Amino acid sequence: MAVRKVLRYGDPILRTPSKDVHKVSKKIQELVTDLLETMYAQNGVGLAAPQIGENYRVFVIDVSTGDEPLNPIVFINPKIIKKSGAVRSHEGCLSFPEAYTDVKRYANVMIKAMDRKGKSFVLEAKDGCLLARAIQHEFDHLDGILFIDHSINRFETESILESLEFPPIEEDKLIEEKELEEQINDAESAKED
Ligand code: ZN
Repeated sequence: MAVRKVLRYGDPILRTPSKDVHKVSKKIQELVTDLLETMYAQNGVGLAAPQIGENYRVFVIDVSTGDEPLNPIVFINPKIIKKSGAVRSHEGCLSFPEAYTDVKRYANVMIKAMDRKGKSFVLEAKDGCLLARAIQHEFDHLDGILFIDHSINRFETESILESLEFPPIEEDKLIEEKELEEQINDAESAKED
């Protein structure tokens, strides 16, 4: 059990789709422990297995803050079973130290997964809360998708990456999300009126 090295953007493992877990073996439990230790050591809100070089469908999230007790949630073989609404989300990623940009996310998600004991559970997160956004961010990692692929303004993201000496955006990975984009724009212009 250990704090592991977090791979940085540019590493091909981050773009590799991850495999399902067939059995929550001792090896997978150790992977979960390493993910949690590494996430806490880096003050992250979430961490996915490929970020520490393991292409398995496993991620962890903890959205507790300040004096609140730790509240780790472990997701093994997750499936997003419902998603709706849209929200602008200002995000970073432990694989992109210091880089933050605005991305498109669903506001509400329902996810089914197994916990670290292999027990299945369903969790709903709503209203664009941090948990709802973190679930989508971490889930994407399992499919080799990164938060910058959801950029609201790709030119802004491009210049942030450049200023931090990261590789550029991969244009073919950018995800067209017209519906999300329209909903976010409508909500924001309604606020201004
Ligand atoms: Zn990330």
